[in-house]
Amino acid sequence: MKRNPLFAGLSEKYLFHEVKTRVEAFKKSHPNAHVISLGIGDTTEPLVETIAREIKNTGHELETVQGYRGYGPEQGILELRKAIQETLYTKTPSVSEQDIFISDGAKCDISRLHLLFGEDTNVAVQEPSYPAYKDSSLLLRKKNPIPLPCLTRNQGIISLDLEALPDETLVFLCSPNNPTGTLFTRSEIEKLIQAAKKKKHILIFDVAYRDYAEDGAITSIYEIPGADEVAIEIGSFSKSAGFSGIRLGWTVIPEKIQYSDGKSVRNDFMRLITTTFNGASYITQKAGLTALGHEGRLKTLEQVHFYKENTRILRDALVQKGANVFGGKEAPYLWITTRFEKSWDAFEYFLHTGQLVTTPGIGFGASGEGFVRISGFGRREVILEASQRILQLDL
Ligand code: PLP
Repeated sequence: MKRNPLFAGLSEKYLFHEVKTRVEAFKKSHPNAHVISLGIGDTTEPLVETIAREIKNTGHELETVQGYRGYGPEQGILELRKAIQETLYTKTPSVSEQDIFISDGAKCDISRLHLLFGEDTNVAVQEPSYPAYKDSSLLLRKKNPIPLPCLTRNQGIISLDLEALPDETLVFLCSPNNPTGTLFTRSEIEKLIQAAKKKKHILIFDVAYRDYAEDGAITSIYEIPGADEVAIEIGSFSKSAGFSGIRLGWTVIPEKIQYSDGKSVRNDFMRLITTTFNGASYITQKAGLTALGHEGRLKTLEQVHFYKENTRILRDALVQKGANVFGGKEAPYLWITTRFEKSWDAFEYFLHTGQLVTTPGIGFGASGEGFVRISGFGRREVILEASQRILQLDL
């Protein structure tokens, strides 16, 4: 059996493999080094107690004849869809629980969504951004997406021009963005929606880091009028509630989103998940429901604040040492430039001089060259030690 040749073109694997190889070589030649990873894009705090308890209770419920559950509903249990609508979409009455599809995580839905659109559909991706948008396009559409630079070393922050794209492009956007930590403002999103309407694009808006935004920021694209005609939104419990290993997310597909022939995209998504997925695990959904309850929300948001505080500690140290820092206030990531023009040179300096692992920005697309990403996920003592080391560097 031949290998699908498209796997050879994927980028993310190269990046993390290369980081691992370089870190291992460093450790081998410096056996006494205590290397700290600031490259991690994963949560580190233990699961909130009330959620863990609900997982155990649901296990017991399933052990009984009355409490046992089998398949479905494929779209997700109604209580959870309602809780998402009532807790996270309070400012967006256009979103109904009928529009919300529960998933096993945002990454899985990023791939699934590709299957809805015709083979020759163009794809554009905000850049730098989460590598899954590009890699899923390459793998599922056999296409390198059109890059939409949003921040480069030479130009700084750049407004996206969706009018310059071919008609009917599928556009991946993320706010707060991984890795830049930046958000779209209301007026920027208004322009994106206007352009999408004019050019008949469909926007895929990823809000995996929505809970890191400050009060008053736009946390759902549906806060902007007209978005329900052009935008699909993807959300996740991974970074908000520590569910990266538990796996839970959602996708909103408003009824008004249509293909060019007027057929409903939402109906096809329902068909797609019944064909390829069968829905998220019941135990996980009950855990998600608890995460959105009063105590669950309070405690999980405390964890989000904890990571934001970590990020602030690192940010202060980096700024003090002269790094040019983007993001980090409304996202758990700092996107920085230093005196090094190449991402890998900065990576090597952090590793060899500070024994700190960062993520080279070039791994997030060509616009990421010259940056490194520093993550605020980590135990507090580790972050404090890392910030002390940063203060010894010459950036
Ligand atoms: N979207 C963005 C922007 C991410 O950074 C990540 C994970 O790092 C995901 C989605 C993945 O979310 P999930 O764990 O729900 O698949």
